[in-house]
Amino acid sequence: MNFLSIGEIMVELAPAGEGLLRQGFAGDTFNTAWYARRLLPPGWTVSYGTVIGEDAVSDDMARFIAGEGLSTDALARHPDRTVGLYMISLKDGERSFSYWRGQSAAKTLADDPVRLADMLKGRDTIHFSGITLAILPSDARRAFCDALATARSDGAHVSFDTNLRPRLWESPDAMRDGLTLGASVADTVLPSFDEEQTVFDDTTPEDTIARYANGGATCVAVKNGGAAVTAWAASEGSAEIAPPRVAQVVDSTAAGDSFAAGFLCARAEGASAAEAAHRAADLASRVIQHRGALAPAIFTGDET
Ligand code: ADP
Repeated sequence: MNFLSIGEIMVELAPAGEGLLRQGFAGDTFNTAWYARRLLPPGWTVSYGTVIGEDAVSDDMARFIAGEGLSTDALARHPDRTVGLYMISLKDGERSFSYWRGQSAAKTLADDPVRLADMLKGRDTIHFSGITLAILPSDARRAFCDALATARSDGAHVSFDTNLRPRLWESPDAMRDGLTLGASVADTVLPSFDEEQTVFDDTTPEDTIARYANGGATCVAVKNGGAAVTAWAASEGSAEIAPPRVAQVVDSTAAGDSFAAGFLCARAEGASAAEAAHRAADLASRVIQHRGALAPAIFTGDET
């Protein structure tokens, strides 16, 4: 059994005191793969798919991915480009982000249709996000989604986390069209209600579910921060699941990414959408009580 998450992972430079920066690697779809690896039984292969360069930092990134237990069988290399980078700045306790990703190798993900088809072939679950689509040149988005549609008709379960980043899209219209296109090739769609309200004028989570169901999705879980998740599957109808109450959110990074992993892994193991939302919300509530995107302590029993 094979779970593939596909998108962009970047170099992260975070303040480490006295003018020092600590180098890490991060990305929304990578976070989902990382959590999926820890949730799925060893019989599953969890792969991370992207395009990196052939330089030293790309080699470090590939080693990091493999070191976290993920398969690199869907990692492609670009001869001239390298990976994207972002830097976190701290001012008065507030974090801000600067990005260097305009020419990243990941933007070429859909440039070679044969390579892309190979990457997607034989997967049981394929997960991607609104960021995966947003970084692609606009004509490549269609090619990418066509390849996913083929993988889906060959039997893969395709999942789409809408993960809105307005600044990555060339216009609000392109973002709306891109999200609708991405969802149209997905079995499972994982939107956040505040974003759907802004982009599509939805008034209730049921509106969001109806829109994606009309587009061809068979399962939708509408997240809403600390408020109830509305989970729907064509075969079950919809249910509201209240996330565990979190007294103090330490860092909300990767709430949605870990939710996606929790949800998809539960579904892959046969859980109903309601049960999957319950498990996903449980995981996300623990993740947001840790600093950073990845919380190994949850899995090693060192949680405080
Ligand atoms: P995204 O990060 O994708 O925008 P949300 O912010 O809605 O999505 O968060 C994803 C999930 O994380 C929620 O559905 C919920 O399960 C959990 N979560 C987020 N914020 C909180 C919170 N304050 N308390 C408890 N759970 C939360």
